[in-house]
Amino acid sequence: MSNIKNNQYTAGLKTDIQYLKGIGPKRAAYLKKIGVETIEDLLFLVPRRYLDRTEIKSIGEIKVDTEATVFVKVLAAGVKKTKNKGDVVRIIVTDQTGILEAIWFNRPDLKNKFHINQQIILSGRISYYTRKQMVNPFYEIIEENSQNHPYLYTGSIIPIYPLTEGFTNWGIRRPIQNAVDNYLNYLTETLPLSVLNKYAFPDIKTAIKNLHFPQTLADTQKAKQRLVYEEFFYLELILALRRLANTQQKKICPLVEKGTLTKKFLAQLPFTLTPGQQKVLVEIKNDMAQELSMNRLLQGDVGSGKTVIAIYAMLIAIENGFQAALMAPTEILAEQHFLVWHKKLRDIGVTSCLLTGSTKAREKKKLLADIEDNTINVVFGTHALIEENIKFYKLGLAIIDEQHRFGVMQRAKLLNKGINPDFLVMTATPIPRTLQMTLYGDLDISILSEKPPGRKKVITKLVNEKNREKVYNFIDQKIQEGRQVYIVCPLIEESEKLDLKAAIKTYEEIKGIFPQYKVGLIHGRLKSAERITTMEAFRQHQIDILVTTTVIEVGVDIVNATVMVIEHPERFGLAQLHQLRGRIGRGSEVAYCLLIVSENRLSTAIERLKYFEKNDDGFNLAEKDLELRGPGQLLGTRQHGLPDLKFANLHDDKNLLFKARDDAFELIRYDPTLTKPEHREIRETFMRKFKNRMYLLRVG
Ligand code: ADP
Ligand code: MG
Repeated sequence: MSNIKNNQYTAGLKTDIQYLKGIGPKRAAYLKKIGVETIEDLLFLVPRRYLDRTEIKSIGEIKVDTEATVFVKVLAAGVKKTKNKGDVVRIIVTDQTGILEAIWFNRPDLKNKFHINQQIILSGRISYYTRKQMVNPFYEIIEENSQNHPYLYTGSIIPIYPLTEGFTNWGIRRPIQNAVDNYLNYLTETLPLSVLNKYAFPDIKTAIKNLHFPQTLADTQKAKQRLVYEEFFYLELILALRRLANTQQKKICPLVEKGTLTKKFLAQLPFTLTPGQQKVLVEIKNDMAQELSMNRLLQGDVGSGKTVIAIYAMLIAIENGFQAALMAPTEILAEQHFLVWHKKLRDIGVTSCLLTGSTKAREKKKLLADIEDNTINVVFGTHALIEENIKFYKLGLAIIDEQHRFGVMQRAKLLNKGINPDFLVMTATPIPRTLQMTLYGDLDISILSEKPPGRKKVITKLVNEKNREKVYNFIDQKIQEGRQVYIVCPLIEESEKLDLKAAIKTYEEIKGIFPQYKVGLIHGRLKSAERITTMEAFRQHQIDILVTTTVIEVGVDIVNATVMVIEHPERFGLAQLHQLRGRIGRGSEVAYCLLIVSENRLSTAIERLKYFEKNDDGFNLAEKDLELRGPGQLLGTRQHGLPDLKFANLHDDKNLLFKARDDAFELIRYDPTLTKPEHREIRETFMRKFKNRMYLLRVG
């Protein structure tokens, strides 16, 4: 037994937190709730904020009707029952210069919080009612039953930690002091001296010490910046290495446009390519004509016309005797691509097929054989494309549509279907520059910034639930004018069953309200055949109103549908709303996006929805989404297989990101194998951080 404990100790920084002096199993369990499992985690527990004691006022000097922060001791604590205001929590505090009262209304959770002799910090507005008072102040319990604690009074900066049950701010400070005293020396430097000097960053030990026991606020900022920079730096290092790997992949042979297929294709298109599309095509053709594989991200707002570019690129591959594959995230989208393009392809002598999870076994067997012997040139599909048993004769170009819906492993699997095939990923999710740099730093980027001509702006309006009637009248009018309508109901995975019910209920209601029109229903649980029939019926205008879940969110393209009603828009993020809205406004008719909001749900989402109402630029919306909800929500960073950001915030720490990126890419240019002696720390840290994730490096 004692042996085990001993081993735990020799594990140094990785020692389980429960073995730290003053913690033990019970308090360790609390710490684990906030992600602190080891001593190292505790050392890296970044204070939420710092309190500068020089800004603390004494009770004697504070003035009525001003804001103040005081550092005080509790003299008395109690709960007062009142007739109409419920229980009032009330404490009397002092700091030797005077006496202050603090009261909280409607805070039953505070009933047992305060005890005599506690040290606390109160912040709030001073009022006067028989004595100086703070009503509903911000409070922070610093320590229980304080007598003089030496650490608390060193320095003027008090770190305030993200607290967990079972700890006061002071309670956590003592174990941190232990950790700093006994384990700081186990930390090894992770950044080269040149970087530390360049930015005047503290070394790792100083940084951690200053995080917890700072002399000045500037110390704490420098320490934090260092941690943020470091986090970005190693992330960018992965990207720089991936990028390097990408630029070393040689394909079977360059794919140079011959024009045998592409010319015919252009001739039969009902429109001419926009200058923007042509520019992107030049970039793609140029990549394809190289010896090295293309790794390109095509980013263009919803409806900007990316698909036709993808098809064109496919034809170049086929002209050279290769095959091409396009993988889409939903069956609906794969089906649409196939339905829209396979006849046009057939007309110029190109064979194509659709391969999804719904493809019947017998049909699939035939398709697999045809793909393997090049009877089929183009495969449209979903994840079904990357199943093991699917073998291409000669895959020259792999395309991923709406690529943010896929993870790295799926990307990699698709690429493995060929020998370093050219790779094009497309996304309509506008990516803020910060995310481009973190998530796509390894790809070349083409941007399609203009939309095909003649598109009208979509008019977006929030409509109160109470005025639903008006929305229905409007729908009626538009259908009479010959238009079609989407009604979108949220379907979020966690509450799928309930949501599905709600969608079906909406469908029944709409049928009741519009008996004179054809109403269709579509959701992910429908059989593929049924879904194809319904989507085709809608496309052929045999359906006027399509009630749908978010299965139509990406890619669906039906020009005559010009009205979209979104139910419960508060459940969607901005990027998702923008995608949805992108389904309409695809022709020359004015389109309308109506968001039905019910008042009581409004409060928290209102800022987001109002922003959406006034903005139709995908980039602005994405930036705002990033600001409001963080990157995870926007793009599912985890799917990219990149490490999570613990200290850094993509929105607030942009500048450090740009610096870290430049440094990391520069470093890899200069020392691609990280073997120069001065990069030893970096190499070792990199291996330590990512040793189980080396696959990250092989994925483009
Ligand atoms: P997205 O970029 O969202 O994938 P799509 O490729 O689905 O957009 O294109 C949207 C619509 O615009 C389609 O109906 C497509 O046929 C049409 N389109 C694409 N390029 C042009 C163009 N140059 N002129 C006119 N219409 C175009
Ligand atoms: Mg698309």
